[in-house]
Amino acid sequence: MAIQPTSPSTPVDWSPASWQQREALQQPHYDDPAELAAATAQLASLPPLVTSWEVLALKQALAEAQDGHSFLLQGGDCAESFTDCTSPIISNRLKVLLQMSLVMVHGLKKPVLRVGRFAGQYAKPRSADTETRDGLTLPSFRGDVVNAPAFTAEARRADPQRLIQAHAHSALTMNFVRALIDGGFADLHHPEYWDLAWVEHSPLAAEYRQMVASIGDSLRFMETLAGPIASFSRVDFFTSHEALLLHYEQALTRQVPRHPGWFNLSTHFPWIGMRTAALDGAHVEYFRGIRNPIAVKVGPSVTPEQLLPLMDALNPDDEPGRLTLVHRMGNAAIAERLPPLLDAVKREGRRVLWVADPMHGNTESTSNGYKTRRFDNIRGELDQAFDIHAAAGTRLGGVHLELTGENVTECMGGARDLSESDLSRAYKSTVDPRLNYEQSLELAMLIVRKSVS
Ligand code: PEP
Ligand code: MN
Repeated sequence: MAIQPTSPSTPVDWSPASWQQREALQQPHYDDPAELAAATAQLASLPPLVTSWEVLALKQALAEAQDGHSFLLQGGDCAESFTDCTSPIISNRLKVLLQMSLVMVHGLKKPVLRVGRFAGQYAKPRSADTETRDGLTLPSFRGDVVNAPAFTAEARRADPQRLIQAHAHSALTMNFVRALIDGGFADLHHPEYWDLAWVEHSPLAAEYRQMVASIGDSLRFMETLAGPIASFSRVDFFTSHEALLLHYEQALTRQVPRHPGWFNLSTHFPWIGMRTAALDGAHVEYFRGIRNPIAVKVGPSVTPEQLLPLMDALNPDDEPGRLTLVHRMGNAAIAERLPPLLDAVKREGRRVLWVADPMHGNTESTSNGYKTRRFDNIRGELDQAFDIHAAAGTRLGGVHLELTGENVTECMGGARDLSESDLSRAYKSTVDPRLNYEQSLELAMLIVRKSVS
């Protein structure tokens, strides 16, 4: 394949490996550099997972969301795992996202841009490099692309072969999602395909079914007048993950014949996590040179003086669709921390898509040792986010959620009012607590009520 010359949009002093000259936080220690080099070389020879055409189409779609023409729904597990790469887990997660988007399309009366946290969400930042249990200290679990969760020296060793396995599991996931969507799984004429068995018992089932019936009615009405509308039979689905493990991302950073510049072709929409967003750090260095649309998580400690230079570094030309800022402040902090950021970005006239992540600022531990989140705090942060944006004259253009299509009990509250003692019943996450199917659907309904009120 002929390699294109570096495009004008690629900074002259940038290369896919230039991040290695900066401090890279949250990376594992690989004990054998030769083994790592062999694995990344193999990874670099394998086909990419997405195409530059799709990446640029998403950037265009995000530009439209920035202008208020659509709303972003981004969601999935905190971390995928290799053992959860199964047919029911993938299809249930897709179903819940499709159902939520149906609720939102219906209520918001605008298109919903669907982006999964999947097909590559295998690397996790950790608060400490090591973990000690009963006097034994081992490296922390950093996600399946790095090591395994079991507390043994063998499991916790950073294994470069896992880079290859993560690519393979991402490809399996992508392949299945693409096949389901191409096969009509997401056809708006057949939302019954997406019913999850246990929704029947949900207090929200009646409201949801009524919405589906009303969508079916309007669809039939429009098609009676206009004939079959093909776009209702197909939806687009894009992928995203935290591009944390830079050896993996670098190996999948490619040039293509038709579009100049470099693309991260492991995903459509990579994001920088809160812990790795330092202006002079390796992650910002890596991200500034790729042409994908990108997102940055913005936590409560970020000031306007930090945010504006970060935006200059990541989107110097103020390109439409390029930059999404995902604020994750916490229900208690958002009222104080968000307004100065919104004012600064507005004052500078910068173009961004503002998205709320109401999950990561609301994590707490229960007295019985579970990491959980209260539905009321998640809802409270989202409610406030809509109001704060309205007051600032900015627009909340999307939500970023951790959720699963499984019937887990990881977050407290919601329509069934899960309590602390319910958590042990079906707590499956090895990292952050996720909304279950019902809590996710409930949140989608609340988003609609809030944003049209
Ligand atoms: C995450 O999205 O799982 C995560 C770690 O988020 P943050 O970087 O916002 O803490
Ligand atoms: Mn998380």
